[in-house]
Amino acid sequence: MTGGMLEEVPCAVCGNDDADRLWEMDTFGYGASVLRRCRRCGLLYYSPRLSELALERVYSGTSEAYDYTQDLCELNYTARRARRCIKLIRKFSDVSTTIRLLDVGCGFSFFLLVAKQHGWEAVGVEPAKPVANFAREQFGLQIIASDFENAELEEASFDVVMFHHVLEHLRHPKWALCKANHLLRSGGLLVLSLPNAASLPARLAGREWICFGELHLHHFTPMTLSHLLKLCGFKPIHIETHHGRILWDSARVAANALSKLGLKSGASKMRGRRELSRRAMAIKCAFRFASLMVWMPLLPFVWLCYRLGFGPDLWICARKESSVDCVGRYPH
Ligand SMILES: [Zn+2]
Repeated sequence: MTGGMLEEVPCAVCGNDDADRLWEMDTFGYGASVLRRCRRCGLLYYSPRLSELALERVYSGTSEAYDYTQDLCELNYTARRARRCIKLIRKFSDVSTTIRLLDVGCGFSFFLLVAKQHGWEAVGVEPAKPVANFAREQFGLQIIASDFENAELEEASFDVVMFHHVLEHLRHPKWALCKANHLLRSGGLLVLSLPNAASLPARLAGREWICFGELHLHHFTPMTLSHLLKLCGFKPIHIETHHGRILWDSARVAANALSKLGLKSGASKMRGRRELSRRAMAIKCAFRFASLMVWMPLLPFVWLCYRLGFGPDLWICARKESSVDCVGRYPH
């Protein structure tokens, strides 16, 4: 252990601590976390992993407010996701009037803005205070600056609750989904988007996959997530996958393949570090570009696989089927 910065945990879904060890990753200089696969339910999770204290320190260094509207690339990517989300909610929500929606971990609140434009009543929860304040002051949105566990919200008061690339960051995803169940009215809709650990890039790129490591504490597949949803009183009603950043993913897959042939870029050793030397960055970029050229001819096949459910960007809609009574104390 590194001064209380790492903690060992059992599986967050079934509580079992019998898991296969997959590989180690450096975590922001706090030591090695280990990715494991639960032998009982198949969940991928890190143990040891960053402790609550370490997570607070890492997030406090990465949560400064900035004007994301100046970042056109990110804005375009976010807008595409927002359109997808609106489409899913319109298709699967049974509300024909004003939808009351909660966005957990709303970040800079782009989706809340879009929801507001649709005439919906949208509320956000965002733990990073500078980010929450920026979005509240700039756009006049209703945002609670708090962790989801401490956010005071009325029971059964929402038609839709969404977690947009948030669940995999939470220390207690099961508890969070139970709280979402508590906040949704009967028949309410849960919308989740997150990285797909069963996707083609994840399977082929292995530890080079962009979503392994970073600040993710768990990795879900359609199967493990559906299992967790049922435990939390939800019935999965729709699953779809998409490409994330297809060229970036492709480069990662090719990088892994070339690494296995002995052509190592050193990229995997660098992951998790905050800063790279200029030389290391140049080598990394050149290696990725070369890898991409190798991978390009396979792109039509990749696109087809994504349409068949092996895409890296996983979306699940689930309906509240029953109430669960496990929203007690937050399990620190
Ligand atoms: Zn398990």
